[in-house]
Amino acid sequence: MNTLQQVDGPRRVEVCKSKKLLMTIINKVTGEVVYDGLYQCRSWRHRGPCQDYHSKKIIARAVDSVGGLHSGVFATVTFAQKDWSSAAAQYHACGHLWEVLRHRLRRKWEMSAYLLVWEKFRKGGLHGHLIMFGPQLWQKAGETEHQSEWVYDWRRDCEQCGFGVVAYMQRLKEELTPEYYVAKCLAYSAKGKDKDYEVPTDAPKGFRRFAASRGFLQPEWKSPDNHQVIIRSKDGVASPVIL
Ligand SMILES: [Zn+2]
Repeated sequence: MNTLQQVDGPRRVEVCKSKKLLMTIINKVTGEVVYDGLYQCRSWRHRGPCQDYHSKKIIARAVDSVGGLHSGVFATVTFAQKDWSSAAAQYHACGHLWEVLRHRLRRKWEMSAYLLVWEKFRKGGLHGHLIMFGPQLWQKAGETEHQSEWVYDWRRDCEQCGFGVVAYMQRLKEELTPEYYVAKCLAYSAKGKDKDYEVPTDAPKGFRRFAASRGFLQPEWKSPDNHQVIIRSKDGVASPVIL
């Protein structure tokens, strides 16, 4: 019996790549068959149509949520590579380190909303791209890295929270909208096309590549409550699964 109810993370991608399962998605309200074909994991880890689908969805959600926000900054966090035994250790730790830094940003700099995307250097090691909002953050960050004395504060905060001292921060340009930055940041990151960066597809199960403040990125693509998803093996054994 093929059921994907327990299948998640990298395993789900393997199942998709194997092309052994079929998937039908039915709109519960209209009865319309929305999709009928090979099972698609629609994961950011699976290069090609699945990754494209995922990035399109996540960009749309983020662009929708960012409307009305102002005083944004763009920042990076890195790891002091020499202090880490392996990339796996960084995957394991990054969520917790971000929690620590996030609390500090909230408390000390009144950060109101954020979006964080993890990327991997091709030569190994993680780093995060951040878009954050808050008047204090904006005021403190200069228009360029060199104009901003606060960058030193930011670097110290990063270091004290366990990240590397190489950290960057800059205001979002006023002539460009937050929507533009969010779309650009996500589109750029989602496919890992940069010569130096790539999508961290080797991250362990449960790794959260995107983190966002409440309301910024609802995981809507995972719970389409008006769709029924039926996954079955090619020999016809049916297994209704709500993904
Ligand atoms: Zn897939």
